[in-house]
Amino acid sequence: MKVGVLKETTPGERRVALVPEMAGKLRAAGLDVLVQSGAGEGAWFADSAYAEAGASIVSAEELLADADVVVAISRPADRVTGALRPGQALLAMLNPLVDPAFAASLAARGVTAISLDGLPRTLPRAQGMDALTSQANVAGYKAALVGAAAFGRFFPLLITAAGTARPAKVLVLGTGVAGLQAIGTAKRLGAVVSAYDVRPQTRTEVESLGATFIELTSVGPAAGEGGYARALTEDERQAQQAELAGHIARHDVVITTAQVPGRRPPLLVTGEAIKAMAAGSVIVDMGAGPLGGNVSGSVPDAETVTENGVTLIGAGNLAATVPAAASAAFARNVSSLLLHMVADGRLAIDLSDEIQAGVVITHDGAVVQAATAALLAEDPTGGTAP
Ligand code: NAD
Repeated sequence: MKVGVLKETTPGERRVALVPEMAGKLRAAGLDVLVQSGAGEGAWFADSAYAEAGASIVSAEELLADADVVVAISRPADRVTGALRPGQALLAMLNPLVDPAFAASLAARGVTAISLDGLPRTLPRAQGMDALTSQANVAGYKAALVGAAAFGRFFPLLITAAGTARPAKVLVLGTGVAGLQAIGTAKRLGAVVSAYDVRPQTRTEVESLGATFIELTSVGPAAGEGGYARALTEDERQAQQAELAGHIARHDVVITTAQVPGRRPPLLVTGEAIKAMAAGSVIVDMGAGPLGGNVSGSVPDAETVTENGVTLIGAGNLAATVPAAASAAFARNVSSLLLHMVADGRLAIDLSDEIQAGVVITHDGAVVQAATAALLAEDPTGGTAP
């Protein structure tokens, strides 16, 4: 079986789906590895390092012609996916719940789509394959650094001959994997950290990191399925935004990480809340992307300053800005999943396996993953996320 590693083409994407060390691991397991020339460049993995690990360096055309499984970080460009042939597999973060129509188009062409974001998150044997977790960890770490870098004061309490600086007050909204890593990093930088999530069970994790958990009186617990949050009702959403605004105004740096699977990120910080913040405050919106964000007015991949002097940073893809660490972790996830799915030197699709039932989105001409199939049954055109 030949595994082909694509060079990413999304602007700003510096990660690579497989690093030389993991290419060597797949080779040792009897798989051939083809790497598109320059695929690892953005993360400082040279073609020569892949070649030393036993991979063949090829052009994009050769890769698409020869690979049995094409691996990438996220959905490749249309000209690449359009060149995939029946029986070939594509493994990446494909977000089928956000764009089910794309999954349907791959199914129609007989391509097997394997999406890392479909992995069951709470299954212990799947932890080593969990790319959402590995990338959220990297991104949460970087979010605290980005917030600190844009803030015009210190994060720690500093007592010097020239005076005393009070520590920065940091608020983290959403305390899943990324939020907890942001809390830990901001604490290590010396900030005083508070945090909030609609899943009250995260309180103990927040407190164990030395941060204060904020409880809202107007919104009850909103845990959904699989350890995720559920979407709030319109009334809950408004109550949450209004109550959060008071907390937001009392903080110097706000980092937002809230997500609900397959939906637009919830808006947590309104324009009114931003207006009540002091000049010099910073908001890092990790939800910022094509579907919107957690913060009113934040622009994906851009830094803007509001009229009242609040810096808004749209930072939806921070993992790509720590490319070597993020790629190394992603590559471990990819190789664990691939080795789990390979038998006798080929992909052995088995939808009775809980892991495969989550990640295999299309196979043998059909959309086979339950959640994606359900969305398409509701809306065969596969309209965008609610
Ligand atoms: P996520 O990226 O889907 O969301 C980030 C956070 O935003 C979540 O904590 C969520 O509760 C919160 N959120 C959503 N809507 C909100 C709102 N309106 N207001 C405030 N907060 C809101 O989450 P994630 O980091 O991917 O984690 C999802 C779950 O998976 C968690 O329960 C995590 O513990 C679990 N998980 C388990 C394992 C494991 O058991 N091995 C591994 C990874 C993740």
